[in-house]
Amino acid sequence: MKPLLRNLAEMTAHRDHLRLEVSVLSTLLRLGHIVQVRALELFEQDGATLLRPRSWSHNGLIVSSDHDAASDPQRIPLSSEPELAQCIAAAGENAERSTPRRYSLWLPVWHAGRAGTCLEITQSRAFTRHHRDVIMGIFLVYQNYQNLLEYSERDALTGLLNRKTFEEQLTRLAGGAPDDDPDTPRQWLAVIDIDHFKQVNDRFGHLFGDEVLILVANVLRSQFKSQDRIFRFGGEEFVVLLRSATLAQARQALERMRTALQAYAFPQVGQITVSIGFVALHLTSPVEILGCADQALYHAKETGRNKICFYDDLVHSGALQAKVAHDDVELF
Ligand code: GH3
Ligand code: MG
Ligand code: MG
Repeated sequence: MKPLLRNLAEMTAHRDHLRLEVSVLSTLLRLGHIVQVRALELFEQDGATLLRPRSWSHNGLIVSSDHDAASDPQRIPLSSEPELAQCIAAAGENAERSTPRRYSLWLPVWHAGRAGTCLEITQSRAFTRHHRDVIMGIFLVYQNYQNLLEYSERDALTGLLNRKTFEEQLTRLAGGAPDDDPDTPRQWLAVIDIDHFKQVNDRFGHLFGDEVLILVANVLRSQFKSQDRIFRFGGEEFVVLLRSATLAQARQALERMRTALQAYAFPQVGQITVSIGFVALHLTSPVEILGCADQALYHAKETGRNKICFYDDLVHSGALQAKVAHDDVELF
């Protein structure tokens, strides 16, 4: 096989967005006259669109940032790259900028009307038609495959990440030493279950039930930061992974979401509420973490619904027994 074809085959063997990104950048890096390739992440913060390099070439290899987008020291406002900003605003396919001996081509990766990533290719010579054709060919294979991957990670009804993705991410994130300092930022897992949802279906029909699920998903998306992850766990149950928050911040974010949902007027159905159980991600296994969040959720259900229960509070107050042994239940 020719090297380029081999690279394309290797690229589409990955089922992980970051590895796929690294792979497309190394494919592009092997083309002639390339000075640098980068994958830039575009994200919103405080009403502004920011850019930060997530992966880039360095000494002939591709390296990736281990910073969270929000705290990456390399982030810059999109407005500081006017050609790219204009291209994104116009939902364009590509943008270029030439300065002496540096020719840059930007290729935004569009998915569902949004560009969350943009590839940047910098050459020492102007791009010829042939260069552009080869780069565009590689880029389109990458974009299509990225979209396919994205599609397989999401729930068809709500567009939130699905349970399979949740299981993969939780397995990656779980672990870490216990740290009881409430001011240390850490990750949190919250399980959110709609109260009396069966009654919505029974009274208004399944279609209205489905609409409620879609609208709840929209409220959840609007309530959490872009670095938090929201999943539809199944049925009328959702899971949120909150990134780097103190206990007080996690409580506040969940409380804000609970009140926002309570205040939302669902067409026909009116008001719905949710119960929430949450726990820090410092326990031993994904099964145990989810089990604890579930126990806290069931406690919220049993003691009146429309409320948030923190697992550690329940253990400290004696309302729940701390888990000592692993359950035999298979959650995954
Ligand atoms: P609780 O407050 O205890 O959580 O009560 P509940 O009625 O919400 O809980 P229960 O587990 O008894 O019922 C959940 C219902 O969710 C049953 C099922 O019909 C409904 N459901 C699950 N998935 C879907 C879906 O995709 N669409 C619709 N419309 N309903 C769903
Ligand atoms: Mg329910
Ligand atoms: Mg349920």
